[in-house]
Amino acid sequence: MSDQLRFDGKVVIITGAGGGLGKCYALTFAERGAKVVVNDLGGEMTGDGKGTKAADKVVEEIRAKNGIAVPNYDSVENGEKIVQTAVDNFGRVDIIINNAGILRDRSFLKTSDLDWDLIQRVHLRGSFILTRAAWPYMQKNKFGRVIMTSSGAGIYGNFGQANYSAAKLGLLGLSNTLSIEGQKYNIKCNTIAPVAKSRLTETVMPEDILNVLKPEFVSPLVLYLCHENTEETGSLFEVGGGWVGKLRWQKSSGAMVKKGDSMSPEDIRDNWSKITTFDSPIYHSTIGESTNFCINASETDSAES
Ligand code: NAD
Repeated sequence: MSDQLRFDGKVVIITGAGGGLGKCYALTFAERGAKVVVNDLGGEMTGDGKGTKAADKVVEEIRAKNGIAVPNYDSVENGEKIVQTAVDNFGRVDIIINNAGILRDRSFLKTSDLDWDLIQRVHLRGSFILTRAAWPYMQKNKFGRVIMTSSGAGIYGNFGQANYSAAKLGLLGLSNTLSIEGQKYNIKCNTIAPVAKSRLTETVMPEDILNVLKPEFVSPLVLYLCHENTEETGSLFEVGGGWVGKLRWQKSSGAMVKKGDSMSPEDIRDNWSKITTFDSPIYHSTIGESTNFCINASETDSAES
């Protein structure tokens, strides 16, 4: 018997699946038995315009290989309609891949209200609206897998992408909390920061580099994270060119800076190297661990002085 990870009977919504990474996810899920809603607004890279061709072509390609797929042409800003397409055609929703994206790069001062708002609306609000609409179905089935698509621009910052960076790191915050709220319903939520050849990267990277960054080197991670046997949740992965790695927060061991009941900017200055040195890093993975660490440090200090 094959040990291939299969998705038979599972219903997957993939946003922005008319091209790039989303198209690759759609084809791969369908090849492995999933019923796929191929969503794409079909507009330009900047968010202007719309059309049905992009989604239709991917659906045709899936059907030509005997896969099961339906198109949806709504913007992710109307995520409820995308979920309705899944329910009307397939009766359920199991997996959500929040992938649709646009770019409106400008240096910070030149970023207009529209540049800011459109990016937040498509990336962050779109992922929120769609996932919220699908949530009750996943809760009811006691099964759900959700992927958020972040970016190195959010994790590290990138010149000219203040709007995009903010939205992309916002998605990590959303995913972190959904992974906690989803736990008791077997809904797992993870975030990826991919690097791949697509129309978003074609204009900023040279051809020879783009050729090693095939979307096919990202989709296996997405499929693995969405499989019913995968327990991973609340995690962030960087993926590209065949390499996959997990990221986590690290904090310095820090310093107890207050003296008795007082604390001044000079106390910060005098402890700056201890505050910022990562010799003995600490890894907290919950807000409780992090908050209790401060409280315990304060209580220990008071007891000792
Ligand atoms: P892409 O432009 O090929 O794909 C994005 C798709 O989203 C397009 O087909 C577009 O029509 C669709 N789309 C845009 N706005 C939409 C909306 N409102 N509703 C529905 N569909 C919409 O680009 P890609 O590189 O494949 O990007 C996929 C995701 O990966 C994006 O979220 C992007 O920000 C993210 N990302 C990509 C890279 C990379 O290296 N390619 C790096 C970091 C993050």
